[in-house]
Amino acid sequence: MTHQQTIEISGAGPAGMAAALAITSKRKQALVYEKRSDVGKRFHGDFQGLENWTTRQDVIEELALLGIQPTFKHTPVREVVCFDPAGSEKIFRSEKPLFYLVQRGGDRHSLDHSLKQQAIQAGVDIRFNTRATRLPGGGIVTEGPHRADIIATGYLFDTDMANGMYAVVSDDLAPKGYAYLLIHEGRGTLSTCLFKGFHSERQYLERCVDFFTSATGLRMQNPRRFGGLGNAALPRKVRKNNILYAGEAAGFQDPLFGFGIRWAILSGVAAGKALANGALSQYEQVVKQRLKPYQQVAATNRWFYERLGNRGYHQTLKHVPANSDIRHWMYRAYAPRLWKRLWYQWVASRNTPPLLDFDENCDCTWCRCKRRSQTAY
Ligand SMILES: Cc1cc2nc3c(=O)[nH]c(=O)nc-3n(C[C@H](O)[C@H](O)[C@H](O)COP(=O)(O)OP(=O)(O)OC[C@H]3O[C@@H](n4cnc5c(N)ncnc54)[C@H](O)[C@@H]3O)c2cc1C
Repeated sequence: MTHQQTIEISGAGPAGMAAALAITSKRKQALVYEKRSDVGKRFHGDFQGLENWTTRQDVIEELALLGIQPTFKHTPVREVVCFDPAGSEKIFRSEKPLFYLVQRGGDRHSLDHSLKQQAIQAGVDIRFNTRATRLPGGGIVTEGPHRADIIATGYLFDTDMANGMYAVVSDDLAPKGYAYLLIHEGRGTLSTCLFKGFHSERQYLERCVDFFTSATGLRMQNPRRFGGLGNAALPRKVRKNNILYAGEAAGFQDPLFGFGIRWAILSGVAAGKALANGALSQYEQVVKQRLKPYQQVAATNRWFYERLGNRGYHQTLKHVPANSDIRHWMYRAYAPRLWKRLWYQWVASRNTPPLLDFDENCDCTWCRCKRRSQTAY
């Protein structure tokens, strides 16, 4: 903290903005450092899904209760067409939204812009083009990923296709991951999400284009390449002395499919409140009770998912009853059941996914920094 009331945050993504809003709601000052020239610069105007299946409560309602107003464009999605590795299609529907389609980047309708506006209105001081390397007085690190466990690569484009949400699971198109095609109001995002085979990303992407062209009649106008990486390593700790880690910087990202927005916001709010209350252990408690159980189950699910292969994906999709509500099915798959948490102990002992460690003796905001580590980024 710079002076008594100002809490510093490094990173102006959803986690950082959510933390800042939580701090100002407690009548404390928040100062956010952002290394880029604006919010959302990590993204490119791509569509992403704000998941709505890990709780019975609607995510938009949950965010509103946490002080995040849904002033960003969020389109409810209740139908997804899924393809198995052989290209057989299955349509999944839900009564309540399975997820909300949101846009990332700096556009005025985007999640990132909306969070920035809310923060500015709440009096948060955001310093762009300012990279934080240390927070000597303590604070919150929400710097996003510093390692690539997941790679996404794809195209953004204009299209005359009708609105539609499509996904395919196949190791030939997205090893151990999935590929998606999201079409909304004349714009599209196509991406392959790789958990393996990073070196062949271009090849997988072109295969996905061919696949969606034959399966959905994909028509891309003005295609632009985009990509990104994600950190799905699980946090061993979320606190280093007087610094709290939140969002993807702490590994809060669904290790099964890489849905991180909701977890970033939840962890950001919890970290902000804890620091504003001057009770850092509150954050560790929230993580233990609210986030860790889901993360452990998702990690266990990933462990199983990685072992399925094309035949297993086919069987799993076949196994989901076509007339069931997919949101209920996903809720059950992610629910923190005891057996999955017990299984997680074994999964964790195999270091799959890896556990994220912080070096207690390093005072930089990212303690696996290049100065002290041989890790390649
Ligand atoms: C292509 C792609 C598709 C995705 N799709 C989905 C999806 O459909 N659904 C979903 O839920 N999630 C998705 N995710 C993941 C989701 O975007 C992230 O989990 C989420 O943005 C994490 O928020 P965050 O605030 O933790 O980090 P970020 O959004 O990465 O924000 C971190 C910010 O910190 C800044 N920063 C970094 N280092 C410093 C520093 N030293 N000093 C100052 N500032 C710094 C960065 O510039 C950045 O603005 C996707 C990710 C990618 C890459």
